[in-house]
Amino acid sequence: MGVIRVSQVTGRFSIVQPGFTPQNAPEPQDSPVMSLVNRSGILQRMHGGGDDGDWSVRIFESRRPAVSRDAETIFRDEPRQCHPSFGYHYIMAATRRCDTPLEECQQWSHMLVAIQDRIRWLYEQTGVGYVAVFADMESHDVPAPRMQIATFRAMPPVILDEAQASDIAANERGVCTICQMIGDVSEGQRLVLRTDNFVAFCPWAPSCPYEFWIAPKRHSTGFLQANQKELEELSMMLRATLGGMTRILDGPPFGIAFHLSPERKNTRQVHWHVEVYPATLPPTSLERGFGVAVSDTSPEEAAERLGAAGRDEMAAIMGVE
Ligand SMILES: [Zn+2]
Repeated sequence: MGVIRVSQVTGRFSIVQPGFTPQNAPEPQDSPVMSLVNRSGILQRMHGGGDDGDWSVRIFESRRPAVSRDAETIFRDEPRQCHPSFGYHYIMAATRRCDTPLEECQQWSHMLVAIQDRIRWLYEQTGVGYVAVFADMESHDVPAPRMQIATFRAMPPVILDEAQASDIAANERGVCTICQMIGDVSEGQRLVLRTDNFVAFCPWAPSCPYEFWIAPKRHSTGFLQANQKELEELSMMLRATLGGMTRILDGPPFGIAFHLSPERKNTRQVHWHVEVYPATLPPTSLERGFGVAVSDTSPEEAAERLGAAGRDEMAAIMGVE
């Protein structure tokens, strides 16, 4: 217990945590460890809950965490490679009721600032090699975001693979894989939405129907360097694309993963982006067993539908009918 087992075949991590069930939202009796409170447009950090009614984002320790601070200190090499499942696991909730899509965007924007704040703090702690930002959401969560953060000692294999592929592409073609994808969709196909600094698109080879990614247009490996204007733009992108996706797909559950570079020296970097996976089809053994994803909708068609719905949402956010 308390260890991350590493597959000698795929390098994937596997955590065994007795009693684990995913906790996607705080429970009523949970008290926050910290709140970020909006005071005249500036987010202030407060220990505990803050005054009722004026808080923006609350941060809770997960009750049933995937990683924890009392993990056993065990390191082993192959074939039974493992390391401690030491880490922090938080649930972040922005649950104050909003009346307009614009207020909902502001809520997302506060969430993104809170995520930046937590990431900075977590990388100052010992035993934190990677901070994973993600969410498993129901469609009704879209207006009031609930995100999670879990930390690991080592870079998770998916991020490592992405960074390695990106390095190879940059060496061979002088441009990272994400920049390449953005260049490809800029010509029109698979483009969902774009703003001054961000682009939302469906990947060429999706892992599920209607999968889409949101990335900064210009090559950027530092999410923490995103400024207020960029976070506001990203929050509009998130609110518009998630709102549109929820509408055209009848509100499926969905997952979000922020693929970010580790904030450690001499580590591989990725052009950061957000990936969204709507769960419209059940998982298959073709995918788990062979890495072959099967979709019922082409990413070209998905992008067209997501784009049309996203533009309507964007108009509603801007107050244009
Ligand atoms: Zn790039």
